[in-house]
Amino acid sequence: MRAAVLYEYNTPLVIEEVELDPPREGEVLVRMAASGVCHSDYHTVQGIHGWPLPSILGHEGAGIVEEVGPGVRNVAPGDHVMISWLPSCGRCRFCVTGRQSLCEDVGWSDAGTMMDGTTRFHIGDRPVYHYETSSFAERSVIPAQTAIPVDSSLPLAALALVGCAVTTGVGAVLNTARVRPGDTVAVVGCGGVGLNVVQGARIAGAGAIVAVDREPHKLDLARELGATHGVNAAEGGVAERVREIVGRNGVDHAFEAIGRPTTIELAIQLVGRGGQAILIGMAPPEARPTFDALTLTLEERAIRGCWYGSCRQQVDFPLMVDLYRDGKLNLDRLVEPCTLDEINDAFAAMEAGAVVRKVIVYSD
Ligand SMILES: [Zn+2]
Ligand SMILES: [Zn+2]
Repeated sequence: MRAAVLYEYNTPLVIEEVELDPPREGEVLVRMAASGVCHSDYHTVQGIHGWPLPSILGHEGAGIVEEVGPGVRNVAPGDHVMISWLPSCGRCRFCVTGRQSLCEDVGWSDAGTMMDGTTRFHIGDRPVYHYETSSFAERSVIPAQTAIPVDSSLPLAALALVGCAVTTGVGAVLNTARVRPGDTVAVVGCGGVGLNVVQGARIAGAGAIVAVDREPHKLDLARELGATHGVNAAEGGVAERVREIVGRNGVDHAFEAIGRPTTIELAIQLVGRGGQAILIGMAPPEARPTFDALTLTLEERAIRGCWYGSCRQQVDFPLMVDLYRDGKLNLDRLVEPCTLDEINDAFAAMEAGAVVRKVIVYSD
């Protein structure tokens, strides 16, 4: 089967034949139908977040189960599935208290392996490492618990986005921030995740939803998906302009969906008395943004991280599907299809800010 392999940081992915071993206990083999192309994949290409190489990236997939390993009961061959990139142990104190996105047992993942510490991908004798889902491949083996079954009548290209951008963005609003009806919201960065923060804020019944980005076409799309206002950051004075819209205090919730120190600082500046900044974007490891500590104390402002929308995939993935089916969550508008062979072009377009979400659609 064909896959896009990263051999060295800052080099193009190589599309080539990779061998895939059958699923072991608790694993399933999925034929990918679609995979979103996420900024996190590209950060790994750039070596910003280190990863064992060679590896097959891609962590926003959906597909059809072809084979299941021993002991698998939640899915069967032929099932259509959305794929989470974050399995959890089910035993640690975070898992048993419903905060499985914070599972402590994740060392195997950083090693680029399956949960048993070995890889299913190889080229000859050389192991090829996993990147969670490894959805930049025609087929992949994943932990069975990360395959969430879905009605086969729904389009898998749109549902692939539930695997990362949608769950992260909507989950940040509903699970992490717990936005209440009428709350004011600002969203810094309107890419795949930020646009889903906008949708989540609309679903939560937020009052003003202010989208902030440098790309006019992303601001237009944000308005289409529920933003009440758009502020072009390229024109400067963002903090003042947001306060002109929501009032002098600032917003109740400022979401940062980029991961740069300057945009993190901006999001914190937008937060009003009693409000919170939710940091979703993955900052580089050396980032040290600065902020006014005194007002955090005096005005009970908070800064809070958000990992994978604080999601519980068995609950949240089906919820996203219900919202999609009910017309409350627009996924189709976000999908810009491409092929596996166009993966390097998709990264270039994403970096140029030209696209919202490239989605690799695999042929049968
Ligand atoms: Zn992602
Ligand atoms: Zn755990």
